[in-house]
Amino acid sequence: DLLVVGSANADLVIGVERRPGAGETVLGSDLAVHPGGKGGNQAVAAARLGARTALLARVGDDAHGRLLLDAQRAAGVDTSGVLVGGAPTGVALITVDPSGDNSIVVSPGANSRLTPADLRDAQALLAASRVVSTQLEIPLETVVETVRNLAPGTRFVLNPSPPRELPREVLAACDPLIVNEHEARVVLGGAAGGGPEEWAAGLLELGPRSVVITLGAAGALVADASGTARVPSVAVEAVDTTGAGDAFTAALAWRLGRGEALAEAAGYAARVGAAAVTKEGAQASYPTAQEVDAL
Ligand code: ADP
Repeated sequence: DLLVVGSANADLVIGVERRPGAGETVLGSDLAVHPGGKGGNQAVAAARLGARTALLARVGDDAHGRLLLDAQRAAGVDTSGVLVGGAPTGVALITVDPSGDNSIVVSPGANSRLTPADLRDAQALLAASRVVSTQLEIPLETVVETVRNLAPGTRFVLNPSPPRELPREVLAACDPLIVNEHEARVVLGGAAGGGPEEWAAGLLELGPRSVVITLGAAGALVADASGTARVPSVAVEAVDTTGAGDAFTAALAWRLGRGEALAEAAGYAARVGAAAVTKEGAQASYPTAQEVDAL
């Protein structure tokens, strides 16, 4: 039902007393290796909710790639569309200091080798999906090609992260475009006065059929031609917000694919996002449908 086209990364995390300066070496904690990347996160989040989910991505023919594939399969994701080889698996090198501030270096690796041709070769997966969800940790040309290869009636969802200005062709396909506050500003080209209602109006003028702005603990806002509505958040004890946006997007895309209205689907997604912040980690924090219902 849901096809995620996107990135898969191994997150390599080391705790440090303080982050090193130029030319400096510091000793840190034991290494933790977590499956991540926005595409991988979205696919796992949806599958854990019970969505029939496939991932179209590229990993390296290496240990990190096998780790990521195992994590997807363990969550129940269809990995027949995950291509292997061409470059090392994407990696995020993360150091975290005691105050929780982190420094991150990302090596896109195989993610940058997911090409438009790979998309054209995936017609069966594209034809089998009601909704296709993408982000921007893969080449923009590949996202453009995704839009061009959507089967008739398939819904397209984009979270433009990391954010950049977008071609009209991509914007026009989004239903919805899902952004947080920072992403909204960048997609608007810096011309973002006012508050979320004004940003949503400005974004709609760029062409998407609908817009969702996520507002962290304040929930979200949905907007389309029929109007704008606030989506309340669920009050939870936030432990770690990593990956909350990916869980929100995955849940929203899945529910839209099942035919739910935008505000209703966003309400469910806000519950999923809230559940995800109550636990450490990204993929490790994602709830089952039962856990969402219990919230
Ligand atoms: P991103 O991680 O992309 O910046 P947000 O922080 O806006 O995205 O989080 C996505 C969604 O997750 C929010 O719209 C909200 O529904 C939920 N969420 C995030 N943080 C909290 C929180 N502290 N309490 C409750 N819900 C939250």
